[in-house]
Amino acid sequence: MTQLWGVRPRWRTDVLGDFFCPGCGGDRNYRRQHGRRWLRLFGTPVLPLGPVLGSVQCTNCLGRYGLESLEQPTSGRLTGLLRDAHYTIALALLAAGGTNAAAARTEAGELVRDAGFEDCGEAQLLAALAALLGLDAGEPVDLQADGGGLLVELHAALEPLAPHLAQQGRERLLLQGARIALADGRYLPQERAALTAVGGCLRLAEDVVDRLLEAATRTAH
Ligand SMILES: [Zn+2]
Repeated sequence: MTQLWGVRPRWRTDVLGDFFCPGCGGDRNYRRQHGRRWLRLFGTPVLPLGPVLGSVQCTNCLGRYGLESLEQPTSGRLTGLLRDAHYTIALALLAAGGTNAAAARTEAGELVRDAGFEDCGEAQLLAALAALLGLDAGEPVDLQADGGGLLVELHAALEPLAPHLAQQGRERLLLQGARIALADGRYLPQERAALTAVGGCLRLAEDVVDRLLEAATRTAH
């Protein structure tokens, strides 16, 4: 039965989009809405009261969530970010170690294919590197000095991802870079510098990076 008097908001939709719905636990469509509370008589709005905070409604479960729920990336976007992170780390470590090392090329190729670039072979990786660096990275490259856009690429690929990964996930990414560096022997100074940059972009503390990289040398061989 409808109440005689009541107060309920009336919503207006500003934007439609897709988000990760905390209620459904998956990617869904949402409508972002703002509203105003209305005094209602038999359910009919008769008198506007104050505005209510904007919110997001899932079109699937109809749950209403705060605007901060839009800051969480969708699963689709997170997958894309992770794939790009793997790819960029592989490129950076391959450049830092020099592409003459066959074992490093193999390791980098595997990382990139495991990440979802199934058709990306060594040839494509080398071509991408040559294009970025403007040179043939046969010898180890100091990313800080001669890395072309690679350091920028690292920041662009890793920084948006870092807040959404647990510590363990960020450590795992760093260790995948370490594996490429160690594939052809111990860390070169260029590789060590590249891994430090990766750790920084992933918001890992310096002592954590040192400890992980040190541990990786003991398990690599
Ligand atoms: Zn939902």
